[in-house]
Amino acid sequence: MFTITLSAASMIGYAASMYATLSFFIPIAIPSIAFLSWHGGSAGNVSAFTTLIFASIALFLLKNSNKAYRAAIVLNFQHKQEIEKRKKIEKKLQDMSRRDSLTGLYNRRYFDEMLHIEISRATRNNLPLCLIMFDVDYFKEYNDSYGHVSGDNCLIEIAQIAEKLVSRQGDIIARYGGEEFAIILPNATLEGGTMFANKLKDSIQSKNIPHVSTKLASLKCVTVSSGVANFKPLKEASASDLIEDADTALYEAKRLGRNRVHFDSSAALDQNIVEPSQ
Ligand code: GH3
Ligand code: MG
Ligand code: MG
Repeated sequence: MFTITLSAASMIGYAASMYATLSFFIPIAIPSIAFLSWHGGSAGNVSAFTTLIFASIALFLLKNSNKAYRAAIVLNFQHKQEIEKRKKIEKKLQDMSRRDSLTGLYNRRYFDEMLHIEISRATRNNLPLCLIMFDVDYFKEYNDSYGHVSGDNCLIEIAQIAEKLVSRQGDIIARYGGEEFAIILPNATLEGGTMFANKLKDSIQSKNIPHVSTKLASLKCVTVSSGVANFKPLKEASASDLIEDADTALYEAKRLGRNRVHFDSSAALDQNIVEPSQ
């Protein structure tokens, strides 16, 4: 009875693995049954017989429960895999809804969302923030000369150049619309933002993307103009004020001849910044 109890306990304890049960059951139960039937007389024969019946039934039941247990493990694993797959799809969809389909940069909707968030953060932490709006010069003429598909490729190339420069964690670059782009530089002063915009302008110009019909006198390549605006927590400006400041500065950059950076002069006065000569 002791061996039977031990075997039964082992079956329950090792239900997860049929082989583990058998490795315990076979070396103990089979010799016990053999011993009882050879040396136990008629009472031993009965015991050996009942033990055999019990063992057969127990093993049969164990086989089924082991099968069900394995099926449950497989099901659980598949369920976890399915959840992971869905999470990945959800993340991909969310990322796609934030991206501009042509350039792969963030789109206008995400930019608007993030500008509000970054302005709140800057206010909370009493930190400055810069907004750069930049626009391709004489892009209508570019399309007229090279066609719309080449125009699209030109926008993709500009986006790639700009994206490479926007390397600081937290900086956000978006396609604002058409051939206009926007960059949010959290924790950047007007001076820092203007330096960044100049670096961007120079990088795009140095790529020397041919633009035969540009109206710029000396250059025959693709150029951009930028407007820089600065947010300071004390000014209590809103997102739309900041966009308006950057847009006004961009308009001035265009008016003054294009292929240049212009910054919001009211903010410059606050910070004693002198506009660099182009
Ligand atoms: P400016 O120097 O004043 O910015 O002149 P511009 O010609 O760049 O500006 P304008 O607003 O007159 O023309 C913008 C052109 O950009 C017209 C439009 O067809 C083109 N454009 C806007 N979005 C796209 C686009 O996704 N792909 C292409 N190929 N062209 C685009
Ligand atoms: Mg333009
Ligand atoms: Mg434009």
